[in-house]
Amino acid sequence: MDTKRRKIIQSLAAAGAAAAIPGQTIASLPSADGFLTSADTVPQPIEDGLGATDPGPRNVTLDLLNPDMLTPPPTDAGDMPNLKFSFSNVPMRLTDGGWARQVTQVDLPIATSIAGVNMRLKPGAIRELHWHPVAEWAYMLVGTAQVTCLDTEGRNFVGNVGVGDLWYFPTGYPHSIQALNEGCEFLLAFDSGKFSENDTFLLSDWFTHTPKGVLAKNFGVPQSDFQNLPSPSQRYIYPGRVPGPPSVMRVSDPYGSSPQSFTYRMLAQSPIQTPKGTVRIVDSRSFHISKTIAAVLQDIEPGGVREMHWHPNADEWQYYIEGNGRMTVFGAEGRARTYDYQAGDVGYAPTNMGHYIENTGDTTLRFLALFKTAHFAEVSLAQWMAVTPPELVQGDLNLPQEVMNALPKKKPFIV
Ligand code: MN
Ligand code: MN
Repeated sequence: MDTKRRKIIQSLAAAGAAAAIPGQTIASLPSADGFLTSADTVPQPIEDGLGATDPGPRNVTLDLLNPDMLTPPPTDAGDMPNLKFSFSNVPMRLTDGGWARQVTQVDLPIATSIAGVNMRLKPGAIRELHWHPVAEWAYMLVGTAQVTCLDTEGRNFVGNVGVGDLWYFPTGYPHSIQALNEGCEFLLAFDSGKFSENDTFLLSDWFTHTPKGVLAKNFGVPQSDFQNLPSPSQRYIYPGRVPGPPSVMRVSDPYGSSPQSFTYRMLAQSPIQTPKGTVRIVDSRSFHISKTIAAVLQDIEPGGVREMHWHPNADEWQYYIEGNGRMTVFGAEGRARTYDYQAGDVGYAPTNMGHYIENTGDTTLRFLALFKTAHFAEVSLAQWMAVTPPELVQGDLNLPQEVMNALPKKKPFIV
């Protein structure tokens, strides 16, 4: 097992409430997991005198990654929809230019508002010219790329993006993505949970399925000019040569360039500073074209907690970028469930359900929260209590004056 993975599992095991049985090691299990060494202790579903060892078949790696499933906090209760799914649980679509994988409503049924795609392009590789019946929002995770788009007034756009940059293509706007020198990997978010990346309108697909006589008339050239069309199976993501800078690549357009930028530098935006981390909020008020996706990038330091809150106007679709964290979602009617998340996981908090996110590791927890809305909105529990008549708050909760005095009148975000 490599050092990084070992560190993750060790920190998770340490953070988890699961009790280890002294002397019981991986080697003593009936089915030893190749990722773990015989020195790793085995967590057991035992806590506060409840539960018992699990001597039968089990997946210890998953148990170590999900300590709040093995021994849930005693405050968890009731039936909740599944609110976690990992990109590691979906198949890669491998091509000669890179790969793609997606987490949609098929995988995470509660996620009706947003579907996510994780895509990798080798240096120069091209995501074919295409469009789709949903809007596309993206965050660059690794490397650099050049994107192109055309608006409905016939105005074109070419722009480069690097780590922490976004792009947004409204529904039906045709676009492309091409990796620059070092290649790239990014997260795409579509504003419909049902959307599949395999259902895009591809340029090569349309040409293949149009009579050549019509192609000839449409472009005013002989039919023989369309003899060498590639099969759509050879496109989608395919190798290419690294393009020049946007100033060189942009084609002269009689209607001019699109006046609205399709890209935005999220990491360059100065964050909201808090004692235990930073928050960057980007929605249509700052990234004007992004009318259907609002985003919050959150960096939580070890031990920090994204305060208890909820969102009155949209579900929250999360993508974990680095670190380890856990979220409890409160679903009313006595229901609550806690999930553990690592890099590459998707989390979900349905609209209005209260939640917090706690950094359970020893490194920064960075994750994106995405909302299908033009304007990000949230209600902070602590701020609400701070500016409500204290007699009401104390009447509800019997809180000592110390708690009342500590209530912040401004949203603390991360504490
Ligand atoms: Mn697209
Ligand atoms: Mn939230």
